[in-house]
This record gives sequence, C-alpha cells and structure tokens, in this order.
Amino acid sequence: MTRIGFIGLGNMGGPMAANLARAGHRVQVFDLVPESLTRAIEAGCLATGNAREAVSGCELVISMLPAGEHVRSLWLGESAGERGGQDLLTALSPGALVIDCSTIDVASARQVGAAAKARGIRFLDAPVSGGVAGAAAGTLTFIVGGEQADFEAARPVLACMGQNLFHAGALGAGQIAKMCNNMLLAIHMAGTAEALALGVKEGLDPAVLSTIMGKSSGNNWSLERYNPWPGVMENVPASRGYTGGFMTRLMVKDLGLAMALAEHAHSAVPMGALARNLFSLHGSQGQENKDFSSILELYRDKTAPG
Ligand code: NAD
Repeated sequence: MTRIGFIGLGNMGGPMAANLARAGHRVQVFDLVPESLTRAIEAGCLATGNAREAVSGCELVISMLPAGEHVRSLWLGESAGERGGQDLLTALSPGALVIDCSTIDVASARQVGAAAKARGIRFLDAPVSGGVAGAAAGTLTFIVGGEQADFEAARPVLACMGQNLFHAGALGAGQIAKMCNNMLLAIHMAGTAEALALGVKEGLDPAVLSTIMGKSSGNNWSLERYNPWPGVMENVPASRGYTGGFMTRLMVKDLGLAMALAEHAHSAVPMGALARNLFSLHGSQGQENKDFSSILELYRDKTAPG
C-alpha cells in the first residue's frame, strides 16, 4: 500500500482516484468542488480540507487539473485569480514523486518539472488518453515524459489506473505526444460527425451507417468507440445528452496547445487548424461544457427529423 495524494477529482481524476483506492492504496484527496469530495469518500478515498493536507506524508502525489495555469498555480504558487496559488512543492520532502496527469502546455510542464528538480523532487508529465470510460474502467493510456527511472518507479501505481504505459521521452515529451494524439482525435471526430450527418440527411439510419463504416475503411475510434450520434451506442456521452465526457472547452484548449506546438516546430497543420476553428465555433455557441462529440450538432440538419 502506498500513501498517495490526489488533487483534482473531476470527470477524469474522480474515477482515477477511485481505482487507486480500489487497488488498496491510501488515497488522500482534495478538490475545490465539495461534491467531488463526497463521491471520492464513497469510492474509498480519504477527503481532506486543502491540497497541503492531501499531500501530507505522501511520497507520491498525482494532480489532474484542467490546464497549465492551474498546474502552475497548484505546484508553484502562481496566483490563480481570487483563490491565489498553493506553492505545493514546498509541502513535499526531497525524493517525493509528482505525477501530473493533466494535459497542459509543454512550457508549464517543463517549468514545474525544473522547479521540482531544484527541490530534489521527482516529476513526470503523464497526460492520459482513453476518456472518462477509460478512467472508470482503469484502462487509460499514460503518455509519460521524464526520467526513465522515475517512470519505472511510477509504473505500479499507473498500472492501477491504466493498461498502456508509454515512456515518450524526456520531460515534456508526454505532453507533445498527447497533443499530436488529440489533434488527430479532433480531426476524426469532426470527420465522423460530418459523414454521419451527410448520410442521415440522405435518408440513412445512423446506426446502420455506423456499422457499415465501422467495418469499412472509414473506421476510427470516434465512430467505433465514441459514436457522436445520440442513441447509436450505449454508455457514450452522445446517448446521455453529451454529458460526462471530454468537454468541448478542454478540446479547444488542447487544440490551442497543438497550434502553439506547430508554430514552435514551424510545422504546417491545416487539418488541425480547421478542427480548432470548428470546435471553437461550436464552443462559442453555448456548447463549451458539453462533450466534444456534440460537434455533431454543428453539422446536424435541425430542419429534418431524426
Ligand atoms: P474537469 O474540469 O472535470 O476536472 C478538473 C478538476 O480540477 C475539477 O474538479 C476542479 O474543481 C479541480 N481543480 C482545479 N483547480 C484545483 C485546485 N487548485 N485544487 C484542487 N482541485 C482543483 O476536467 P477533466 O475532464 O477531469 O480533465 C482533467 C484533465 O485531463 C484536463 O487537462 C483534460 O484536458 C485532461 N483529459 C480529459 C479527458 C476527458 O475525457 N475528460 C481525457 C483525457 C485527458
């Protein structure tokens, strides 16, 4: 049993912490939202009153926050609006291992990692793929940047939450690989929605069309595992009003990170840029807190039945 601090119990962090508790670890948790703490207690975690309490006595701490500013605020104490920062690195002992699973900009990951190293604290950037369903099932993919030895040290704990554990390279490499992946995800989700909307407008049943494309060369993860058309697939956000998944605003954030990366690399990303504009437009129409598969609404013919 390892004593683990866990900060950030949202759509992803909540079920991830629950899996650690289920595996027998002592999981000390904190989130700004009281309801998340209640759910974590029900899942066997130990709720605490603030982030410092959560990491108290822990050799290993995981954070799962929305964006780079939240991660810098938590670990470095950079002010985050009215709440102020936490400077949480100062609460850890040298040798402790911090695993940040948030999807954030490479510069923030490297900045927090360098500050941790200066204090003798080990740091991994370890963004995940697999969505809320993967977090609940413990089948996430972890894409990790940092020292190989630290990755090996983290492996047993990561294995309680995920199935595929990849060491992408040095500090920041996890975030770079994750951005490439999510840019591709946005492109195939938008393409899947576009194809389904076209077929349905021409009279096809979305479930039949999905089955056909799923067994043909158009098959992809969005179609097969995360179908955006309501009712085609059970247990996906589209079939529960686009709730409980990966919010459009987070996808827009990730696409912004991918664009910044492309600029840094002088790499042309025309499809990624188009996807970013599509998801931005969709978000600006009041959809930013819906799951990103709701991009279908942008394509769907609102004048036709079905
Ligand atoms: P979320 O908004 O549901 O959860 C974030 C949680 O962090 C919230 O509960 C919030 O209250 C908490 N938080 C923020 N600042 C805090 C602080 N200072 N102290 C304590 N708690 C704090 O987001 P999510 O969907 O769980 O995503 C988390 C990260 O994982 C994001 O970077 C996202 O891009 C990434 N991600 C999400 C998915 C997905 O399908 N949802 C998939 C892969 C990766």
